[in-house]
Amino acid sequence: MHIDVSTLLIAMTLNMLTMAVALPYFMGHVNRPARRAQVGIGLQTAGWVLLLLSSMCEAGGWLDRLLSTLSMGCIAGGMAFNAVAFDLWCGRQATARAPAIIAVLLTLGYGAGFSNYAFRVGWANGLLTVQMAMVVIALCRRPQAPVGRWRWLLVISLLAQMVVTAWRGALGAFYTADFPHFFAPHVVNLVFALVANITVVLSLAAILLAHRDEAARELERLATVDGLTGVLNRRAWLAQAGIDLAISVRYRQPMGVLMLDLDHFKQLNDTRGHAAGDRALQRFAAALRAVSRTGDVFCRYGGEEFCVLLNRADLAAVQAYDRRLREWLADHVLPTLDFDLSYSAGIAMRLSDADTIEAMLRRADAGLYLAKAQGRAITLGG
Ligand code: GH3
Ligand code: MG
Ligand code: MG
Repeated sequence: MHIDVSTLLIAMTLNMLTMAVALPYFMGHVNRPARRAQVGIGLQTAGWVLLLLSSMCEAGGWLDRLLSTLSMGCIAGGMAFNAVAFDLWCGRQATARAPAIIAVLLTLGYGAGFSNYAFRVGWANGLLTVQMAMVVIALCRRPQAPVGRWRWLLVISLLAQMVVTAWRGALGAFYTADFPHFFAPHVVNLVFALVANITVVLSLAAILLAHRDEAARELERLATVDGLTGVLNRRAWLAQAGIDLAISVRYRQPMGVLMLDLDHFKQLNDTRGHAAGDRALQRFAAALRAVSRTGDVFCRYGGEEFCVLLNRADLAAVQAYDRRLREWLADHVLPTLDFDLSYSAGIAMRLSDADTIEAMLRRADAGLYLAKAQGRAITLGG
């Protein structure tokens, strides 16, 4: 059986082209990392198309130089974009500055030294190897988000590519007679073309898996937060409250719950419209965020009711939180609204080791009911 290098590389480029067109179309609207990955694949594909085109031009001519240099820029630039995508998928703030600098150096050096075959092949393949090594190192670092096994698919692909790329670079630079041109029927080229074909398939699988991971994480997040205000929803708060209650019992620390309900909210909706009501809820959530400290857990309990759980807090600390919240509303929220926004609240402290969140919420609700009955905008209970 005869396997020829150029057919393998043309097949690989066609596969990449299909992937570069199909991915954005079928993935639809995507967020930052997937968009970067798509741009990365698009650039690398453009790089391969240009490289194949350059091989059809007069060898060493100006068109060959232009297309080959552009090709190197696209391939290395594409890898830099992919590096950003992988960083983001691993939950890190992506900069990928080093792979981007390498892409620029590689392109400039390649263009400038194009007439020296040994130099340009050694330079390009050497720097591409370093760039891939950086991406591998980044992928091996401990991720900041729960990440599936897709990154090992990428690590395996990149390691295999690194070996053949370095091998090609060394041959081109130091054993030029053995490797006189891009499609030379040398065994390294055959291995390179086979590895490249396998890598395309593995990369596609890895990108789709990474994207699926991210979508799953987003769904998980959405299941715990309230869509309008971005604070925890009742279900997530109750789950956290159960854990905090157990810790509070175990370490004999005080703990309190504050249940808050906005006053005359229906009237606000009726007179100003639902959009104004929604804005008020968002501003109130911002106030909770601003006055809360580490260990305070707050949520939108439902409608215009919010709950705050204060860990390691006695009655005085819960009352102090309530005071800070009223002050913050008066200083920061009320001046930005053209209507009055107040709340009534009930406090419940943990009374015994057998106390439950449900019982505490019932007591806080009773305090809240009394506060409403006594004219609103006050906090009662404890
Ligand atoms: P009170 O002072 O006794 O608490 O009176 P209230 O009007 O605040 O209480 P009531 O329970 O009668 O009304 C609550 C209102 O909150 C009714 C409902 O339309 C409104 N509401 C609940 N969820 C939302 C929301 O997401 N957006 C808006 N704009 N309004 C909401
Ligand atoms: Mg209510
Ligand atoms: Mg209300």
